[in-house]
Amino acid sequence: MSEDVGSTPRKALTPTQRLKLFESWHGCCCICERKIQAGEAWIDEHIRPLAMGGTNELDNRGPAHKACADAKTHGKDGDLARIAKAKRIKMRHVGIRKPSKFPTSRDSRFKQKINGDLVDRRTGEVIRRAK
Ligand SMILES: [Zn+2]
Repeated sequence: MSEDVGSTPRKALTPTQRLKLFESWHGCCCICERKIQAGEAWIDEHIRPLAMGGTNELDNRGPAHKACADAKTHGKDGDLARIAKAKRIKMRHVGIRKPSKFPTSRDSRFKQKINGDLVDRRTGEVIRRAK
């Protein structure tokens, strides 16, 4: 079940858990590994995103500068981009796909025969003969 896309609900840490997490990382950011300074905004980050099969357990969480976490989530090749891609691959795997927009694809009204004739798929009528 852990591989299901987006199956685990997010769960906030209690203040005590937050302190325990911060201390177990010796106050370092789990992304850039620099110390989180007093007064710097930090969040508890899911190291493996929930939507990629990560869990809410403390061993999958670490403190992260807010800025580092935003870059990890929203950046190019960030978590959101990887999550969207994993979802597309999964949908493809189970046979869900976007219809093709290519003019004579199987999803279009017309087909082009190997001899170049353009044929209406519904009526079988030749729309345009190849020269
Ligand atoms: Zn950082």
